[in-house]
Parts: sequence; structure tokens; C-alpha cells
Amino acid sequence: MPEMYLLDLWEEYKPEKKADMIKILNGYLSQCSTENQPTMRAWWWYWDPTPSSLDILIYMVPSRFDSVAYMYDSTGDFAQDGSDGQTLIGPGNKPSIAEVYTRPYTATVMANLVFHEAMHMKLKKGNSMHALGGVASATVPTKVGLSKTNISAMKSALLKPVTQWSDGIAQVRARQQSGLP
Ligand SMILES: [Zn+2]
Repeated sequence: MPEMYLLDLWEEYKPEKKADMIKILNGYLSQCSTENQPTMRAWWWYWDPTPSSLDILIYMVPSRFDSVAYMYDSTGDFAQDGSDGQTLIGPGNKPSIAEVYTRPYTATVMANLVFHEAMHMKLKKGNSMHALGGVASATVPTKVGLSKTNISAMKSALLKPVTQWSDGIAQVRARQQSGLP
């Protein structure tokens, strides 16, 4: 079954908030599932996943200054969402890297931001994606819920392979252990 892996690399969120976010995301993923296809599941991941191109890896880091995508390529094609997150959109089979910043928002807004970056990644669209509205909007809703347009866009997109990059996990851990900011 394809997985959505969320990595709280700096262990900033409490278990309750994480559980609330996962519940919302799993609701979204089952709404976007296609008949006869296994539903994607969302998890908080505590060790290093080896994601396939059908999985979605979401790096949760404090801010853009801790960007994982920039470690891979800071000059690529980015969908940028201000201080909330960004997604590197890789050309062809090059990796796409989604990251969300651990802002002090509610679990609902954070889940919406995670899904928003997953949409940028899976649809391989930059800021033009915001025109889809709903959770794809430039400012994500504060309530739980996908629009019909969000669901139809992600239903087909979830089945499309997008290369993931998990080497960022080891690079972040090495940086944390070195004590450098
Ligand atoms: Zn966006």
C-alpha cells in the first residue's frame, strides 16, 4: 500500500497534535482513493523510510532556514508557500521534495498544509495549482475538508509515480549531531 510519510525531524510536535493531523490526512487520502486501488495511509515516521515513487515523503522542519529541499537543490523549480512550506518540483524522474514548516497552527491547518504540499508534489504544479481552490488555495482553509476539485485532481495524481528523496534525513541528522545550526 502506498504511504504518506511525515517526518518531524526536530521532534517539535506533541503526540496529540500528530494524532489529530494523521486522522485528518487519512480522511483526505481515503476520499481521494480510487475504487479497487489500495488507499494510501499517512504515518508519522520514526525511522528512515525507503519510499517508492508512489509514496509521499513530507519533511517537517522549523523553517526555510532548515530546508531539506535546498540541501538537494536550491536553484530548482519551487512551489513556494511563504513561511508555511515549499516543494521542489523535479523535472522528469528527478526527485520532488515537499517540506512543511512546523508553525504554531492548529492540527487542522497543519494537516491542510501537508496535503497542500503533497498536491504540489503529485500534480507537479507550482503556484498555478492555487487556482484549484480549497486546500490547494494559497492560504489553506482553517476547517477540515477537501473540495470536489481537490478530490478529483488528487484521485488521478495519487496513482502517478513521483521520485522521492530520502537522503535528506541522514543529512539533517548529521547536521543535528554536529551541533551546527
Ligand atoms: Zn502552494
